[in-house]
Amino acid sequence: MSMNEKIFYIKTFGCQMNERDSEIMAQSLSRYGYIEGMDMKEADLVILNTCSIRAKAEQKVLSLLGYLRKTKLSRPTMKICVAGCVAQQEGVRLIERMPHVDLVIGTQNIYNLGPLLENLDNEGSRVITTLWDDYDIPSFLPSLPSNTRSESGAQTTSPFQYSKFVTIMQGCNNYCTYCVVPYTRGREISRNVKDILEEVQILVKAGVKEVTLLGQNVNSYGKTNAVTAAGDPYTFSDLLRDVSNVDGLARLRFTTSNPKDLTDALMRSFRDVKKLCPQFHLPVQSGSDRILKAMNRKYTVGQYLEKVKKLHEYLPGIALTTDVIVGFPGESDEDFQGTMNLLEEVRFHGSFSFKYSDRPGTRASQLVGKVDEEIKSERLALFQKRQDEISLLRNSEYIGSVKSVMIEECNDNVAKGRTDTNHIVHFSDCAGCMPGDMVKVEIVHAGQHSLKGKIDEIS
Ligand code: SAM
Ligand code: SF4
Repeated sequence: MSMNEKIFYIKTFGCQMNERDSEIMAQSLSRYGYIEGMDMKEADLVILNTCSIRAKAEQKVLSLLGYLRKTKLSRPTMKICVAGCVAQQEGVRLIERMPHVDLVIGTQNIYNLGPLLENLDNEGSRVITTLWDDYDIPSFLPSLPSNTRSESGAQTTSPFQYSKFVTIMQGCNNYCTYCVVPYTRGREISRNVKDILEEVQILVKAGVKEVTLLGQNVNSYGKTNAVTAAGDPYTFSDLLRDVSNVDGLARLRFTTSNPKDLTDALMRSFRDVKKLCPQFHLPVQSGSDRILKAMNRKYTVGQYLEKVKKLHEYLPGIALTTDVIVGFPGESDEDFQGTMNLLEEVRFHGSFSFKYSDRPGTRASQLVGKVDEEIKSERLALFQKRQDEISLLRNSEYIGSVKSVMIEECNDNVAKGRTDTNHIVHFSDCAGCMPGDMVKVEIVHAGQHSLKGKIDEIS
């Protein structure tokens, strides 16, 4: 480290979009004389890249900021920056409540982090930018490798990542009534196709094997601005085909999708685009038409099930996962039973389930008929218990089959990897295997959240 180099530390809360944004900030800081450190207490600059999707996520950020206030008392030169959704939502209020915060940077302003820090150093006064005027997604080159940290504090990456996220969209126009994203991430915008393909090509040339395309609702990619040379709409299924044609890419995934925009062409992609992994995260949120309407989801349970049926026709064996909210305002026992019935019918491989949480500015936060915390907890426990049982049954179906697994970690002859269906597999006797290798593994045991296997063949 040279005399002029400063140390930064980024902590990422929440979703994969935030993980990618943290990489972009880390990349931009390296051009401004910063290097990444391992210890938050030693850093010259601490960035909290925050999430406000539920009240609990926001509370975690506020309690860490409380801890940092004490750290800063003993190291007053330390700069503290709050980025992401809490920064966007709270803006100037955050600095008023937390005078030890130096920089508040909104979701669309992360690309300006370097110049904003220079301003902070030169002017000495605290900076707040949460403007969205005329924004676009700038071209940026991928960063390799990255050492940003997840919420648990663990490094999110091995020294070199074989699987990377590529942002293809920002924002959301859907205004589901419970959701804060349209307010914290702005209107939906699709990234330029050329920039996406260039980023994937650079990643693959550097050795990356798998990419996951990211957006809040990737199914509507292109709606806002992408067209083909002939002037026709360029859709998400076109993008999947073009990305999959990048030579050397082994696996392609994407997340997240709103079922209302799931087209037949996109469903067919699971059959036709060979590199597209046979797994699909399709958030349903509720199994009650009445609640789906109140959520402004714009599909019914019947329409969702119809799409699930078609997906299985196009790709038998596709692994489906979902998101569910329990205790939305006005949710009755009968509505909740609808969600349980849907779980029985689809038998999701896995799900993320949440208790409804009021978010500032959303329409649902103004609704009457809020469900008691205790009832929400009971419903969540019932849902999760049944999901765990179903996940175990689903995972048991893989016993005896041989799966292609990409190795993520390998230590002392014990490896962890991932199937194309996105299942974690643990196995031993992997001598000679390296992260990024593809191996054939026979599945011998199934748990609720992972599989165990024995090595069949190293390709
Ligand atoms: N774009 C995705 C979609 O349309 O389904 C959802 C992305 S959101 C970042 C991730 C998940 O958080 C949602 O699917 C929903 O289940 C959950 N979520 C969002 N707002 C919530 C709230 N106010 N309370 C509880 N869960 C919420
Ligand atoms: Fe939020 Fe997803 Fe609805 Fe957009 S589509 S408002 S991100 S839940």
